[in-house]
Amino acid sequence: MNPMVAAYIGIGANLGNAALTVREALTALQQLPLTQLSASSSLYGSAPVDAGGDDFVNAVARLDTHMGAETLLAELQKIELTFGRERPFRNAPRTLDLDLLLYGQDEIHSVRLEVPHPRMTARAFVLLPLLQIAPDLQIPGKGVASDFLPGLQDQRIWQLPVSRQDLA
Ligand code: ADP
Ligand code: MG
Repeated sequence: MNPMVAAYIGIGANLGNAALTVREALTALQQLPLTQLSASSSLYGSAPVDAGGDDFVNAVARLDTHMGAETLLAELQKIELTFGRERPFRNAPRTLDLDLLLYGQDEIHSVRLEVPHPRMTARAFVLLPLLQIAPDLQIPGKGVASDFLPGLQDQRIWQLPVSRQDLA
């Protein structure tokens, strides 16, 4: 078995009931083999950065996992596919995007996998929820995560209210 590693997952959705999708994705992460969901951020709303369309709902989860990075990515893609079945038409935008942001202190550059996720420090919808659950985080090869926040002030992001479901 692999040693336990703290992995951070970026979750995004902007189709249908995106907040519900993100909550269900957290549940799916919780159920992964060899893995504990050890922290999850609030849900955030964010305006699309590079595209038009509806606002996104985002969150970040920390997993304590014994899965290797490539295996974990494959599991994330399986979860994406489960939600993808709800796509209203072929090639529609995916209902759910799961990104492996960090895998311990590893730096990975393979065909399938880039870790740390190359765009994570440029996206407020990743960095803000990430810093909520890991304020002092260091990003391998990049430095202190919070140092990147001031450069992202122009991106609109807001914390969503806690739903009754979260309190249940
Ligand atoms: P994005 O998340 O950048 O909007 P996609 O989810 O469509 O784009 O990208 C999926 C592809 O990105 C997959 O083929 C996967 O192998 C690759 N990939 C590389 N690095 C990562 C990572 N850290 N997390 C998730 N997917 C990654
Ligand atoms: Mg992705």
